[in-house]
Amino acid sequence: MTRPKPQRKPQQPKWSMFPLMHDNVAFLLEVEDLHFTFHDLDEDIGSIQTYDTSIMGRFNCRNKRCESNGWSSMRIAITIRMYPGEQYNARVYHQRCIACNLLSKPILDDSYAERVAYRLKKWCGVELELPEFSGQSKGPHAKEFCEGCKAGHCSEGRRIDGLVAALSNFSLGGI
Ligand SMILES: [Zn+2]
Ligand SMILES: [Zn+2]
Repeated sequence: MTRPKPQRKPQQPKWSMFPLMHDNVAFLLEVEDLHFTFHDLDEDIGSIQTYDTSIMGRFNCRNKRCESNGWSSMRIAITIRMYPGEQYNARVYHQRCIACNLLSKPILDDSYAERVAYRLKKWCGVELELPEFSGQSKGPHAKEFCEGCKAGHCSEGRRIDGLVAALSNFSLGGI
């Protein structure tokens, strides 16, 4: 029996923007009398601020033959950008299924709008208390399944790298 040739599939996107979430962001900004519009071009060019952080959400694997029931992530990498003229956008990085490696686009929760609005308010000089969601993630972060890590825009991946570097410096400088 010959094995079927692996079919060349079109490249799966490694990140997405969520312009439909703009209403939620706008609602949170209104409290501070800020009125941003969504910048449709997903690129750094022209941006005056960018910030890498993470949000929460859920992934479902679209591979019908995959046994995964999907997964939740406390650390979905996101890059928030601000442009002149009260414009902004945010790129959300996809993750790979641990069971079959297929790229998956997340279903986001309220943390998207909260974090984006928080960052924009900060950039606009609004005095803010630290958000509640600044807790640390429990499990290890699977960098090989995170497109944010691969693109060098994952705050969680960088945090872990920092910890590893600190640990190895510590053991090197031991005696
Ligand atoms: Zn899968
Ligand atoms: Zn990552």
